[in-house]
Amino acid sequence: MRIILLGPPGAGKGTQAKKIATEFEICHVSTGEIFRKAVTEQTPLGKKASDYLDKGLLVPDEIVEEIVESRLDMSDCCKGWVLDGFPRTVNQAKSLEKYMRQKVLTLDKVVNIKVSFEYLIERFTGRRSCESCGATFHINYSPPKTSGICDKCGGKLIIRKDDEIETVKKRLEVYESSTFPLIDHYDQKHLLINVDGSKTIEEVFADIMQYLKDEDKP
Ligand code: ADP
Ligand code: ADP
Ligand code: ZN
Repeated sequence: MRIILLGPPGAGKGTQAKKIATEFEICHVSTGEIFRKAVTEQTPLGKKASDYLDKGLLVPDEIVEEIVESRLDMSDCCKGWVLDGFPRTVNQAKSLEKYMRQKVLTLDKVVNIKVSFEYLIERFTGRRSCESCGATFHINYSPPKTSGICDKCGGKLIIRKDDEIETVKKRLEVYESSTFPLIDHYDQKHLLINVDGSKTIEEVFADIMQYLKDEDKP
């Protein structure tokens, strides 16, 4: 199973990608998480990416494409993957298509999670992320068992620097101009599924599973 998740920042891509990956025992690849980890660890990639992340701008395509390809080449991705946060531009989508042709892989579905911009702002202000493992929580909708502490690894929960309101607005603008056109791109290839992201986490997941399981039938 190979799936792409699309949707504006805060739509719930990371949340759903983790659940899909567990359900199908496939690899969850989040470019945002890869970049944030590189920034924290101050690797050469992190040094190149940190300015873009802080400003809410996209990291240049060539950098992202190389990172994603080397991730997808790793052995744990051979059973399949769910991409969260990539592709984010039509150029990135074309580069992924070229990579998949070379490896003779097919894309099963592109899930577009739709949420209004007003609602997204509320999502962001409540988002808390684990400093150690990248798990996300929401103070109202999916609170951790103990406030400020990650359920999965016991790490400290923080507010991401790019979740501050001005950066969020910039990210939504960037989404609108660069990523939104991808919806049409995949719709033309008859791969697109639209789900209503304003429902609860469990309802959104059930809707996605309904589509993906139908797809699985012979
Ligand atoms: P994205 O990866 O698209 O940026 P996240 O999965 O990180 O989005 O979700 C953004 C925030 O909204 C997180 O705090 C998450 O816990 C919360 N969230 C995700 N899905 C839902 C939902 N269906 N209803 C309410 N809150 C949600
Ligand atoms: P969100 O929660 O907004 O969906 P992500 O966690 O996916 O955000 O990404 C955070 C930041 O990482 C982006 O604002 C951008 O700077 C960078 N980034 C992640 N994925 C990509 C990509 N495919 N192309 C360019 N930049 C990216
Ligand atoms: Zn954690």
